[in-house]
Amino acid sequence: MNQPRKRIYVSVPHMGSNELRYVQEAFETNWISTVGPNITAFEKAIQDRVGLPAVALSSCTAAIHLALRLVGVAEGDEVFSPSLTFIGGVNPILYLGAKPVFLDCDAGSWNLDPNVLQDALKTKAERKCLPRAVIVTHLFGRCADMDPILEVCGRYGIPVVEDAAEALGSLYRGRSAGVFGAVGTFSFNGNKILTTSGGGVLVSQNEEWVSQARYWSRQARDVGGAFEHSDLGYNYAMSNVLAGIGRGQMEILDQRVQQRRDVALRYRSALADIQGVEFPRETPGDFETYWLSRILIDEARLGVTRDSILQVLEAYNIEARPVFHPMHLQKPFLRAERFGGAVSEDISRRGICLPSSSSLSAEEQDLVIAVVRETIGASRETQTANRGCLDA
Ligand SMILES: *Cc1c(COP(=O)(O)O)cnc(C)c1O
Repeated sequence: MNQPRKRIYVSVPHMGSNELRYVQEAFETNWISTVGPNITAFEKAIQDRVGLPAVALSSCTAAIHLALRLVGVAEGDEVFSPSLTFIGGVNPILYLGAKPVFLDCDAGSWNLDPNVLQDALKTKAERKCLPRAVIVTHLFGRCADMDPILEVCGRYGIPVVEDAAEALGSLYRGRSAGVFGAVGTFSFNGNKILTTSGGGVLVSQNEEWVSQARYWSRQARDVGGAFEHSDLGYNYAMSNVLAGIGRGQMEILDQRVQQRRDVALRYRSALADIQGVEFPRETPGDFETYWLSRILIDEARLGVTRDSILQVLEAYNIEARPVFHPMHLQKPFLRAERFGGAVSEDISRRGICLPSSSSLSAEEQDLVIAVVRETIGASRETQTANRGCLDA
């Protein structure tokens, strides 16, 4: 190959055929700002998909901020969150002057461990300082075990905010991620399963809360044009231009989910024979989108470190990432209280997120697989067979 090969990223935007048309319509009709038919259609598409009223926002971080406020989080309150998550889902706790408390995940699902949650709530109840809310994240598109989580939270009367940023299209016991908590949120950031370039959505069974979130997202402007505001608001609305992208993306959600699952399946069948590379197992009865394909490395067994695998991939101009760094180890949260943490730390230390884009071609993925195999010396035969591919 004469030209340098294109970099392979972990997750890139993947447009369908109608996004540009809806954006063009916004220009032609001059609905460029934060109202217009794309917003209405995008919100309806979400509602049709997940079954709950929805409001389009500027990001999922904004959606979580509003969600926490809706369930009553205020200054000084404590909020439970899984430690293994993305920081955008956690920072809004601090925006509200509340205190995060981090809980460990379970080794199977990498999501909030219901047993840790139960113990933490019991401890807090004894101290008479229950949290105001529990954030539950569905990491990488795999659903957390909502039944026991909802059961124990219900027992203590604590509302659940569901961070489904990575789980649009995922199902828990046949129902859409995001509909189980008091409020659910989705991300349309550029690296997510669908994107609006940047954006978020808030859903709730409580229609008044959805209206309240919409009102807060538009500077809490009172009815009429008199610039009167009787509450604190934010500039969190989504633009009608970007909602046009989201409208087109929602039309092809199933296709994008299938493509991500196909990528994950190909990794599994190509690497499953290697002792020391583990794949997360799908929970029977649930449906996971595999937003990102990930593996766990047993360094002792393989004789290579996780980081050396990342470095070799990088040398081939392939982006791969460690799994999220636990929140209890992050500078802004070092003083936060936590329950457990060893499981999150272990996954974070040994996990790799592989290139997972729905647009990843078979040739690109073959290269990634060949580099991983070569790095861990899994199969000399495969190495030789792929030599031409690696040299390309
Ligand atoms: C991406 C992500 C967010 C933040 O979403 P934005 O739309 O980028 O603000 C929050 N939580 C999780 C788990 C995420 O993956």
